[in-house]
Amino acid sequence: MKELEDRIRRDGIVKGGVLKVDAFLNHQCDVELFDAMGAEWARLFEGAPINKILTIEASGIGIACIAARHFGNAPVVFAKKAQSINLDGEQYSTTIYSFTKQREFPVIVGRRFLSPDDHILIIDDFLANGCALEGLIALCESAGATVEGIGIGVEKGFQGGGDKLRAAGYRVESLARIAAMDAETGEIAFVEA
Ligand code: 5GP
Repeated sequence: MKELEDRIRRDGIVKGGVLKVDAFLNHQCDVELFDAMGAEWARLFEGAPINKILTIEASGIGIACIAARHFGNAPVVFAKKAQSINLDGEQYSTTIYSFTKQREFPVIVGRRFLSPDDHILIIDDFLANGCALEGLIALCESAGATVEGIGIGVEKGFQGGGDKLRAAGYRVESLARIAAMDAETGEIAFVEA
């Protein structure tokens, strides 16, 4: 998606292995851009029987909620990062390794909000190694829900998470795919469409 790539070139900052996009994606939010991203996912996933969107707190929530406007106002469920896993049976839970925080944390979704009737579009701001998505997929599997596809804002292609998920048969649509980035020059190269 050219609009997102242009914005990354303009406002993205490369810091070591991390691309900071907090000027428009995950701290300050450009809702007009979010709206265009939602429209693009709706175009890409046209015809898929999506009835719910699943994301993870915190940065996924805003993007997913605006995207939902393009999916017939489908409800948005976000996996919560929990202090500990509560085994009271009312939640699906798994653990996710965080690339940015370099530690594992538990995530939960209430059983009331995911079921075998659900056809899920997973949305997240970033895809790096794929750990966050693997956790969200595991929550869907626990609930017997069908993952119709995965919509990502920025995929760091060189970390391999996207290719792993595609090889496992998931449809992953990333609106910007980064082939390489240089922390010294700040240069960012995108995967050719
Ligand atoms: P993964 O689990 O795929 O390795 O990483 C996905 C999560 O890590 C995203 O939800 C995002 O919060 C964070 N993340 C990974 N790489 C980056 C990055 O380069 N920049 C930013 N801003 N977040 C990242």
